[in-house]
Amino acid sequence: MDLLREVRGRDHTYDRFLSTMCTRPHPIAVKAYEMFLETNLGDPGLFPGTAEIEKKVVQLLASLLSCRDGVGYISTGGTESNIQAIRAARNASGRRDGNIVVPASAHFSFDKIADLLNLEVRKAALDEMLRVDVADVERQIDERTICLVGIAGTTEFGQVDPIEDLAKLAIENNIPLHVDAAFGGFVLPFLDLDLRWDFRVDGVQSITIDPHKMGMSPIPAGGLIFRSADHVKRLETETYYLTVAKQASLTGTRSGAAAAATYAVIMHLGIEGYRATVDRCMDMTRYLVSSARAMGIEPVIEPVMNVVGFKMNDPPGVRKALLERGWHVSMTREPRALRLIVMPHMTKENLDIFIDDLAAVISH
Ligand code: PLP
Repeated sequence: MDLLREVRGRDHTYDRFLSTMCTRPHPIAVKAYEMFLETNLGDPGLFPGTAEIEKKVVQLLASLLSCRDGVGYISTGGTESNIQAIRAARNASGRRDGNIVVPASAHFSFDKIADLLNLEVRKAALDEMLRVDVADVERQIDERTICLVGIAGTTEFGQVDPIEDLAKLAIENNIPLHVDAAFGGFVLPFLDLDLRWDFRVDGVQSITIDPHKMGMSPIPAGGLIFRSADHVKRLETETYYLTVAKQASLTGTRSGAAAAATYAVIMHLGIEGYRATVDRCMDMTRYLVSSARAMGIEPVIEPVMNVVGFKMNDPPGVRKALLERGWHVSMTREPRALRLIVMPHMTKENLDIFIDDLAAVISH
């Protein structure tokens, strides 16, 4: 234990993280996590109580995404949920030589999917607002396309793709649309934006939504929600030695703690609690942007959510100088910018210190 304390002491702390989409888990989620530590949802007949909680969490996530009858499970995160969503679409298509069309802004989990599922991943261009160009998506669809992907909250800029237009294309071509809302799923429902991106849009078959990001659940907690049970069936494997006959998750043995923790934090915070958290993060984001503007630094796009990309001459140099002052920030690919995420662990006091440090770094 002394050794563990020592190594843990060498980790950096969330107070100075502006680079991550994860955050400190809510204390009530930690309590629930500990309570369910030894449970295994890979064999749910042994843990029927935990299995019931997972069902409840899935219902809560589905209703947050405007689909009362949605089905799915608690995964290990956005990567697993994206893999499984595309696997379901691939299995439904019956093709083994298919392709998917994703925005150029898609998370790198889609590159893993290409490799794992032996699919070609076609990347569609973005418009000047960094949303996917629907005309380019249309150009890339052919008879081998088994799924379209739209993103509700891109990893690098927090932008939302035109999901309704993508859904129209998906319906016209008789293919499903998967929405990756790994980050945006716990942000967009609490913003007053006139955007339709969830199951209210016909054609959306599945949505990735991660409790371990803005949901404030402990890692690893991802969510994969399908519009209907048929889609989950396409993921099922027969299990010959467990308490259930079939399993649809990617992992076999899997912790029930993530589901219990997610249930606890959702029930504790409720819609109002999450709204207040998102409001706080958005207030700080706007404050960060206006402070940066006062230094002559502009965001690449006006932030839609609590993710900001700042234009600057030398993002790697600025990142390094900030790291020397103890700040963890990251960078985007295209356009190259300094990337900051203002998560619930950030405080106004720490943000003020960051802004002073940014001003000092920029003026050098
Ligand atoms: N999708 C999006 C939009 C993301 O931003 C991320 C991670 O940041 C992922 C998927 C992958 O999630 P995870 O790292 O939980 O597997």
